[in-house]
Amino acid sequence: MPAIHTEELRKVYRNGFVAVDGLTLSVAPGQIFGFLGPNGAGKTTTINMLLANVRPTSGSATLLGHPIGNQNARRRLGFLPEKFQFHDFLTATEFLDLHGVLYGMSSRERKKRIPEVLDLVGLSGRSKSKISEFSKGMQQRVGIAQALLNNPDLVILDEPTSALDPLGRRDVRDIVRHLKEQGKTVLLNSHLLGEIELTCDEIAIMKRGKIVRQGRIPDLLAAPSQVTMIIRSITDKLLVDLRAQTHALTVAADNETVEAAIATQEEIPALVETIVKNGGRLMSLVPRQESLEDLFIRIVEEK
Ligand code: ADP
Repeated sequence: MPAIHTEELRKVYRNGFVAVDGLTLSVAPGQIFGFLGPNGAGKTTTINMLLANVRPTSGSATLLGHPIGNQNARRRLGFLPEKFQFHDFLTATEFLDLHGVLYGMSSRERKKRIPEVLDLVGLSGRSKSKISEFSKGMQQRVGIAQALLNNPDLVILDEPTSALDPLGRRDVRDIVRHLKEQGKTVLLNSHLLGEIELTCDEIAIMKRGKIVRQGRIPDLLAAPSQVTMIIRSITDKLLVDLRAQTHALTVAADNETVEAAIATQEEIPALVETIVKNGGRLMSLVPRQESLEDLFIRIVEEK
């Protein structure tokens, strides 16, 4: 049973704007799932429908097998909104205790669970500090602790790392991996595509209310079509032969760095042969793999 399933989910706002346009999406349990798209794509609207904060115009969705809004599903759901409002006059423990009450946790459960989540996000030593004294990164961790308080099976994190420095991001990455080890499902929305690439099992990219790509990241990236070589002892004949074999070839001013456009990786051995046959000394050859950022930009710019 998928952790999240949507079927032709659609939201038309009152002004007639179609924010989500027939979204069908399945997130398998235990996955870290990246939910991506440019600003205005409809991600927040989708998340709000999943959380039952926004009513779908049509279509349906289930969370953990229950229709959206169902209390059993909500109890097993954790959520960190992008712009989280902190009661920053409270200490970390007081803040989590308040949220524990909102989750309907008993006093005993809260006493046991709050130190656990503070430990999980690396704030054990600061449980009695006021949130107003925390750095942005620490506040973000308190937010994540809040989302994990009820020991949820499904965690939705909206831009959890955008306020964090590289160390903070690594910490959040570790927390997310820890959740995966525990078999939880995590839906992650982030503009930090490097983070997504490092963390997510699968992604979906939304554009103008529709999913335009979904799958494992390596399957979505284009095959390398560019190689950068460093060749010493280059001769004119070597370049003529290489040009005949490639779609495009440029030699940098250093007269050693050669960029070649190829159709497939299968062409690489023949390039090497040509270089060696012509007396060139190949010092390095690096195929350039498309990054998630390249893919994202390519999709956003697609008509
Ligand atoms: P994302 O989270 O991907 O940036 P949103 O779901 O916030 O996208 O917004 C999708 C589109 O819906 C945007 O063009 C936004 O302006 C529009 N939108 C969001 N909320 C409303 C609303 N209450 N009424 C009308 N349009 C809205």
